[in-house]
Amino acid sequence: MNLNFEAHFDADSTSVRRARETDSEVTIIGDTYLVAFEDSEDVHEVELTDTVDGWRGMCYTVDHNGERTGHCPGLEYHDAPCAHLWLVRSQCVRPVLADGGHVEAPPAGDDGHVFGRPELVR
Ligand SMILES: [Zn+2]
Repeated sequence: MNLNFEAHFDADSTSVRRARETDSEVTIIGDTYLVAFEDSEDVHEVELTDTVDGWRGMCYTVDHNGERTGHCPGLEYHDAPCAHLWLVRSQCVRPVLADGGHVEAPPAGDDGHVFGRPELVR
């Protein structure tokens, strides 16, 4: 789906606050991101790309085997990005440049783990 982060940005929104203030782990698996907030058992799989035409992404719930089980409840009931999407946007996504290249990847461990930088949300 198309996502308009700028139009929905509100520092007091539940999703933005959660992305900023809750400890989290993000693991990069190929082109997707597994997001787990420290205070939740749930793992969500985020697809997010910054294209020249804007942000495109989706957030899925996944089971213990990593199989997608549905759309993130944060997206089902709102048209604003969920906390998982805000988090991935701030931490991980490398903008696709007009020439199709990527900017440099963020620092990550050998296992692809990216350490939480919630202060970088927007
Ligand atoms: Zn989500």
